[in-house]
Amino acid sequence: MPEATPYPNQPTSATDQAQKERTRQHEFRKLPAVDALLREPTIGLLAAEHGVTAIANAVRSLLNAQRTAISRGQAAPALDAWPTLVNAFMAEQNLPSLRPVINATGVIIHTNLGRAPLSDAARKAVQAITEPYSNLEYDLAVGARGSRYDHARNLLCELTGAEDAIVVNNCASALYLVLSVFCRDLEVIISRGQLVEIGGGFRIPDVLRQSGAKLVEVGTSNRTYARDFANAVTPETAALLRVHSSNFRQIGFVATPELGELVNVARQAAAQKSREAHAVALPIVIDDLGSGALLDTAAFGLMAEPTAQESMAAGADIATFSGDKLLGGPQAGIIVGRAELIARVRRHPMMRALRVDKMTLAALEATLRSYQRGRALQEIPIWQMIGAGADAMRERAVAWQIALQAHGIQTQIRHAQSAIGGGSLPGETLPTYVLALSGAQNEISASLATKWANALRQQPTPVVCRIQEEQLLFDPRTVLPVQEEMLIQSIRNVYADLS
Ligand SMILES: *Cc1c(COP(=O)(O)O)cnc(C)c1O
Repeated sequence: MPEATPYPNQPTSATDQAQKERTRQHEFRKLPAVDALLREPTIGLLAAEHGVTAIANAVRSLLNAQRTAISRGQAAPALDAWPTLVNAFMAEQNLPSLRPVINATGVIIHTNLGRAPLSDAARKAVQAITEPYSNLEYDLAVGARGSRYDHARNLLCELTGAEDAIVVNNCASALYLVLSVFCRDLEVIISRGQLVEIGGGFRIPDVLRQSGAKLVEVGTSNRTYARDFANAVTPETAALLRVHSSNFRQIGFVATPELGELVNVARQAAAQKSREAHAVALPIVIDDLGSGALLDTAAFGLMAEPTAQESMAAGADIATFSGDKLLGGPQAGIIVGRAELIARVRRHPMMRALRVDKMTLAALEATLRSYQRGRALQEIPIWQMIGAGADAMRERAVAWQIALQAHGIQTQIRHAQSAIGGGSLPGETLPTYVLALSGAQNEISASLATKWANALRQQPTPVVCRIQEEQLLFDPRTVLPVQEEMLIQSIRNVYADLS
């Protein structure tokens, strides 16, 4: 066996060790005292801006970090570098926690990235309503208290064909509220194929139980018929619940009753019950649409996502859907349905706990008006993204490629697929073209790809992209046109730093 050679960076003798320790002590002594730093005029200016305590804390943190660095063998910073260090520290401290990012993943409704970006009109409406006071709960015609729920009401009725509508915090709370109002201590029938987990551990059976409803499962995982519902109805049945299987798809030997069939089962059962038993004729049909599109997704070569209009037309008594999925508006839960039922929802004590704020209502009303004008496709960002063709994506990717080439950064254009996301249209994709970033030798190692992706997330406007086959992929579909310049700049920054 050959002798193992000592690791080259390892100190080989006691003298080396002693020399290193002397250097370290020398560097430690270069570190200024807290008070001395606070007396520096430039740092004094920072203290005037950020407050003395904040700057003193910053200085202490930085000194601690420097001690650690020195003990690892680094040199102390020069005295005149300190103001810059403190300034950079404060800039980072003062970054808002919730920040804009560039979504280059090609996933249109990205729940981690804030779901639907708002339209111009929606953003302007939020700004216009938050600066001054507003008529949030004030009836201007009468000069007396009004209801915040009246603001989006007529638009929602007009667009969905419902008799009445009300808006709460999100679709999960909409479903919870509706079940609490109508099904507490009563039975709710649901197909075994629809006992779904939406995401983030949000499970329909759990919400049902929380609301105080008794869950009655019918059918099998793959096949449920209308007669399964009919056979399960008892005098205690409050609702037949349909839950849209938003984030998964069943193929093969499957069967699910049409909404209209459930409506027939419910109507027949209600007709047989005594009228006095409940305030409203039960059972009712509740349709949890989840995404609940207002536009027909089939027009874009996608599977048909059930629309709120279809749900109302098929006779559902109540439908619930999200404001920030395929509607393309703010986070909200929309409840539409029969007037007498919505009136009961409106009066429920939980309503107060789930109510929405004026910013949400302003953004929602403006978003709905785009649909009313027939301009959703032109004005609502997620519909612009869904409606954009692959050629338009290629044009934008090529423009990025040319801009980067001018700075000596070589990229490729690749065919790829964008996704809808957000628990809408699972597995459905839109053909796209992406910009693929490669290293100087036209290949980057896995670790370099990861390093670049990490560095892109640390940019002033963080960039989130996909990594595939050790390449970074940027899909123009989800990058807002106003963010393009920033994206190019960010790619240049990390390329310069890390290549
Ligand atoms: C997404 C979804 C929900 C939850 O909606 P949020 O607005 O996120 O609360 C509920 N039900 C279905 C079927 C969904 O797809």
